[in-house]
Amino acid sequence: MKMETVRLGRTNIVVNRNGFGALPVQRVNMEEAKVILKKAYDNGITFFDSARAYSDSEEKIGEALSEVRQKIYISTKTMATTVTDFWKDLETSLSLLKTDYIDIYQFHNPSFCPKPGDGSGLYEAMLEAKKQGKIRYIGLTNHRLHVAREAVECGLYDTLQFPFSYLASKKEEELVDLCKEKDVGFICMKALSGGLIDRSDAAYAYLAQFDNTLPIWGIQKESELDEFIEYNDNPPIMSEEIKAIIAHDQKELSGEFCRGCGYCMPCPMGIEINQCARMSLMLRRAPSAGWLSEHWQEEMKKIENCINCGKCMSHCPYGLNTPELLKKNYEDYKTFFK
Ligand code: SF4
Ligand code: SF4
Repeated sequence: MKMETVRLGRTNIVVNRNGFGALPVQRVNMEEAKVILKKAYDNGITFFDSARAYSDSEEKIGEALSEVRQKIYISTKTMATTVTDFWKDLETSLSLLKTDYIDIYQFHNPSFCPKPGDGSGLYEAMLEAKKQGKIRYIGLTNHRLHVAREAVECGLYDTLQFPFSYLASKKEEELVDLCKEKDVGFICMKALSGGLIDRSDAAYAYLAQFDNTLPIWGIQKESELDEFIEYNDNPPIMSEEIKAIIAHDQKELSGEFCRGCGYCMPCPMGIEINQCARMSLMLRRAPSAGWLSEHWQEEMKKIENCINCGKCMSHCPYGLNTPELLKKNYEDYKTFFK
């Protein structure tokens, strides 16, 4: 196997360029998850990313991979905002992952960048956990560019996890370069932009141009895993065909579109914003039949109930005018349906 590897900045962790994002394994049962996770390991994937917030994802990793714990790297996350919750989360993660240490422990999308002396006590708790040997490196995940930049610039974080794909803006590419300059590992989430990118080879080839980025592909099915395993032996390169796909998608998906991250949820009126606000794109980029089902017709109709409270908009890390976007998508949906 001649697989490509990535060095995660100052952690000096070197792993296969295909990391495993364990959010989607929540949606399959334990047996299926174990098969997928073990197969990933058997085929050279050694980096697994989870989170306390991903229901039983940590438990599935623990069940599937505890026997090879020393040979893999695990990153997980806490959304704790208090020191008490921080320790509760850490102990729960350790126990579910069936391990006594976590390689990279990350603050999960905090609204600010925790630092020593900021009064939250969170960064101090990280340091204490490190001292106790329960975690090896300190990381932060975020969707907000300013929090991410602060984490990289302050020198307190070993890794940053941030959305990054070939639909990224110049500012996001600069963030990757900044990580390289500061020797901070860049763990890249949403490399397929929440399902909008359907060519994983193009996604892979784009990211491979940045030698410090480690994509963690969200994998739920064995067929998806097989695609990435194939890249161990035949890593996609930036061919003319792939360049053309990327240029086409960048043109079609430039500007203000919903990435489906869900940070604007829940909506008090029960609108499934993270799907409904990008329905026009999904209808045209994925097989449309599923999106025209009775279920989705009902979900889209809920947009009529939007009370314009603005809650979604204030939480959108991409600064989208979400209520307006929803209405545009609804109008388009009705036209498409006809
Ligand atoms: S503005 Fe509309 S869509 Fe957004 S949270 Fe409020 S009710 Fe929901
Ligand atoms: S509207 Fe914004 S916060 Fe909500 S899912 Fe889309 S990109 Fe994410």
